Amino acid sequence: MAMPTKQEWTKRAEQKVKRTQLFINGKFVDAASGKTFDSINPRDGKLITEVAEGDAEDVNRAVAAAKASFEAGVWREMAPLDRKKLILRWVELIHAHAEELALLETMNCGKPISDSLNVDVASCANNMQWYAECIDKLYGEIAPIPRDSVALIEREPMGVVGAVVPWNYPLIITSWKVGAALAAGNSVVLKPAEQSPLSALLFAELATQAGLPDGVLNVVPGFGPTAGGALGRHMDVNKLAFTGSTEVGKYFLKYAAESNAKAVSLELGGKTPHVVLGDLPDVDAAASAIAWGVFYNAGQTCHAGTRVIVDARVEDELLEKVREVSKSIMPGDTYDPATAMGTIVDRTQFDRVNEYIKIGESEGATIHTGGKPVEPVPGGVFIPPTIFKDVKPGMRIEKEEIFGPVLGSVRVTSEEEAVRIANDTQYGLGAALWTRDVSKAHKIARQLRAGTVWVNTFDRSSIVTPFGGFKQSGTGRDRSLHSIEGYTNLKTTWIQL
Ligand code: NAD
Repeated sequence: MAMPTKQEWTKRAEQKVKRTQLFINGKFVDAASGKTFDSINPRDGKLITEVAEGDAEDVNRAVAAAKASFEAGVWREMAPLDRKKLILRWVELIHAHAEELALLETMNCGKPISDSLNVDVASCANNMQWYAECIDKLYGEIAPIPRDSVALIEREPMGVVGAVVPWNYPLIITSWKVGAALAAGNSVVLKPAEQSPLSALLFAELATQAGLPDGVLNVVPGFGPTAGGALGRHMDVNKLAFTGSTEVGKYFLKYAAESNAKAVSLELGGKTPHVVLGDLPDVDAAASAIAWGVFYNAGQTCHAGTRVIVDARVEDELLEKVREVSKSIMPGDTYDPATAMGTIVDRTQFDRVNEYIKIGESEGATIHTGGKPVEPVPGGVFIPPTIFKDVKPGMRIEKEEIFGPVLGSVRVTSEEEAVRIANDTQYGLGAALWTRDVSKAHKIARQLRAGTVWVNTFDRSSIVTPFGGFKQSGTGRDRSLHSIEGYTNLKTTWIQL
């Protein structure tokens, strides 16, 4: 299908958004309080629509619906083949509504429309398809015990899963959690981020159209401390899957401790280093991967490669080439299919990123490129690719997650120093290494403390590889069969013969 033009997307965006209420027990309903909140388009600062503001009472309703559907067995007891077919029908509907979903994602998050369509919606559909296809391929085990007995080891769904997700990749992260939780047979209550509730509501409606029984997937838009907190503290939620900041992730451990000791999995922040040795195989390839790896999605990626830790002998050449590549990733109108970089998600985050740029300058780092906001659409919150040189270990811009298109370069003179600086962070989501020496590649990859280490590439990923963090980047994994394990309890059934 041909990509609609910028004019066409702009016209479509002016139409009234259809789904703005909570989605509970298969129906769109108002919040119990009747309250709504404004959903703002970061492209131009204009109101998109008002969205129902879920609170503790609404979370109670949604959890009750999820629990009732779980206890009735309408989903978990359905034959695996039928559950698979149902999710595959849902995937077809996601494809059929791809442009609508993509536009909602772009309007909420400020992503370029081409990325929303070709990356976010496409990955969401692919992920749901992959989880669907797992459903009738998961086997239990028989334990090697004495011959007078048989012990079955099976994975059972946990019950009600609460999923609290961020705004940077709403549909992708939702599909990781909802796909895995439903594949395992659970019922789900999803709380999207307040910045990006709209695509989740259509996603859930399509599930119902595909035949997902009422109550199996519920969506409660609302704010973190109210709706998110209520889900985290709920006595009938058996597992809470969270993606977001490290600070908020820790609240969920507290909520679990203060309520029913529910299982918690956390995908948190990052400060991914690129360790670039003097013998890197291809400076052009590294520069391209480094630029796209930090400027894609305007830097709002948890594993964005924000730190280059580079051999002093190659730093100048590398940074020059990164700057060259970044010229092709300049911010533009999010409705233009040619745009490579969109906005920052909202004005709060925009102010935060600009503040970090000021901090970097005051700490003594030098701006190599960018640094000043641009406004390709009036009223929008756009920051161009920004590169800092002369960054020193321990500076705030080297330590803290900025979550914007800001790269910092630290010059080093030995591999030991590079690895030490790479690991000297509270985070451990990703790390990259650039070298042509295969022995060094293996040795240093082992030393890097991160959930994913890329060697001579960056940000390659797939639904078949696990994703998650070491240290304060979290616990638990999204993607791959390992993620499904995180939504199950292991049960042993011991039978005396
Ligand atoms: P955030 O932690 O502020 O919000 C995430 C979610 O938590 C939202 O739904 C929000 O409403 C909710 N929330 C906020 N405060 C809460 C509270 N007190 N109690 C309960 N819920 C609360 O994060 P964000 O700003 O939306 O997203 C950016 C962060 O997410 C970054 O730190 C980024 O690194 C991280 N992230 C991590 C991954 C990963 O897989 N590791 C992926 C994407 C984003």
